[in-house]
Amino acid sequence: MKNIRNFCIIAHIDHGKSTLADRLLDYTGSVTEREKQDQLLDNMDLERERGITIKSHAIQMDYVFEGEKYVLNLIDTPGHVDFSYEVSRSIAACEGALLIVDAAQSIQAQTISNLYLALENDLEIIPVLNKVDLPSANPEEVTDDIVDLLGCDPEEVIHASGKTGFGVDNILKAIIERIPAPVGEPNEPLQALIFDSVYNPFRGVETYFRVINGSIKKNQQIKFIATGKTYGADEVGTLKLKQQPKQEIKAGDVGYVITGIKEAKEVKVGDTITDSANPTKNAIGGFEDVKPMVFAGIYPVDTEDYEELRASMEKLQLNDASLVFAPESSAALGFGFRCGFLGMLHMEIIQERLEREFNMTVITTVPNVSYHAFTNKNPDEVIIVNNPSDLPEPSTLNRVEEPYIKATIITKSDFVGNVMSLCIEKRGQITNQTYLTTERVELNFDMPLAEIVFDFYDRLKTVSKGYASFDYHPIGMKQSKLVRLDVLLNAQSVDALSALIHADNAHNIGKKMCEKLKELIPRQQFDIPIQAAIGAKIIARETVKALRKDVTAKCYGGDISRKRKLLEKQKKGKKRMRQVGNVEIPQQAFMAVLKLN
Ligand code: GDP
Ligand code: MG
Repeated sequence: MKNIRNFCIIAHIDHGKSTLADRLLDYTGSVTEREKQDQLLDNMDLERERGITIKSHAIQMDYVFEGEKYVLNLIDTPGHVDFSYEVSRSIAACEGALLIVDAAQSIQAQTISNLYLALENDLEIIPVLNKVDLPSANPEEVTDDIVDLLGCDPEEVIHASGKTGFGVDNILKAIIERIPAPVGEPNEPLQALIFDSVYNPFRGVETYFRVINGSIKKNQQIKFIATGKTYGADEVGTLKLKQQPKQEIKAGDVGYVITGIKEAKEVKVGDTITDSANPTKNAIGGFEDVKPMVFAGIYPVDTEDYEELRASMEKLQLNDASLVFAPESSAALGFGFRCGFLGMLHMEIIQERLEREFNMTVITTVPNVSYHAFTNKNPDEVIIVNNPSDLPEPSTLNRVEEPYIKATIITKSDFVGNVMSLCIEKRGQITNQTYLTTERVELNFDMPLAEIVFDFYDRLKTVSKGYASFDYHPIGMKQSKLVRLDVLLNAQSVDALSALIHADNAHNIGKKMCEKLKELIPRQQFDIPIQAAIGAKIIARETVKALRKDVTAKCYGGDISRKRKLLEKQKKGKKRMRQVGNVEIPQQAFMAVLKLN
């Protein structure tokens, strides 16, 4: 145990975590030439394209330092707020963290929020000033920023470049010398923390764990405390680039177990594994069931594809336990599903995977957060509102509560005013303002989660000219004034266009919504009135004027190939359209409320 080191790498996105992880693997000879590929740890296609680590992974390296053999377990953490619970569990499995800071960008919001998580778990922090090879690097100033943040000595900050490999030897030295070896009791009952799981279509779910006490052996009967289920440990092993089966994984070490579980949802990140014959009395603290934060309807473009969509979602759920869904129906769209996601990125990923891996074309309706409603009749009974149609009649409504978050924003002092106005417009309340340096300011706000879902990232980028970083975590429910904004096309209410909106913004949003829909809905042979309503009251209206001529008329009937191209283009556009009554609605219209500025 004294020669094991368990660590993770924490960084703001794009500060070079994956690149540096690759260099560590190279340097310790953990990868053969053939296995070399950029950013080895991001092995899902979608992840690679988006350049983010969606699922955390772990890898073990062997390293000889001053004549002694060490085992280094690198536990990779996802870099996006949607997956922050997984970050916290990966961190809890470690004794130390490399805190990577880009030498040109300095400290950003995720640097800070991940650092706080690491400090809460008593991790030893090794600050790494990365990308020192960049001409725009500002090593002295950024080192000062890090020293201020951590209260460490400047000599403790390791200068490195994931690109050139500079400093990697010093990082390994620091991992061995500064991060404490794990402590644990090999002879106590088994207690292992699940920090991740991966779905393998051939072998079932692979569960990744860190053993805190005791050991886990091949063929042992093991119990998962939160789910209460017992399984045989068919295979246990360590995580090299390929899995290495072993007879036993002991206290302090990291490994995987395969138990024949076929569904991701049976394995919960944060759960404790114990010996079913000799169980531990204590589950490892901090377990939470991850809850979806954002809900939206997903409907097949072609109503006939409903059953196929259901089969695809079921398959997706086998390997992504954080996706939840339930059948729902919409007067406008027919049969589909109300789906819960961890956040907007997660929602986009699911939609993309449905299209890529299952060849489904789907319509996604406007996302909303989960509200709590209470009626006058039963003012103590929570009604969970995940769908605008679930909101009780305004006359029967006692109150509504909405989820709030604590937001951390780091920006340059020049943009503090802009960022504040934006956050106040988004119903935020400032709770703290700290000058990190004379140039850089950290702002904290309590804000409704719903406002983050609606175009916040883009606006923040605009008002700060890109010089603001943002992170958040949920802080519970607060009372709110909520109304349902309905949209009528051709005097017919289209339920799939309804949105839950704060009462103070409803008029403004209703007006903008009508204007946006006018842009998005293609003209047809007749006028299409668009109206926004709250209850029976119409609050805004617009009209899509009828087409005067055939669209191909402007090709003067002459150029056949041009005409064909135009028709083909229209056909393609049609793929993501739904006919509602006699009006064609394109996918963008269902998201219009998110893009109103
Ligand atoms: P992550 O989001 O933290 O995992 O960051 P990546 O490892 O994906 O790196 C983000 C970008 O920075 C990529 O384009 C890398 O090629 C680049 N990068 C990473 N490390 C360095 C470095 O040390 N120097 C330079 N110049 N670029 C780097
Ligand atoms: Mg990465």
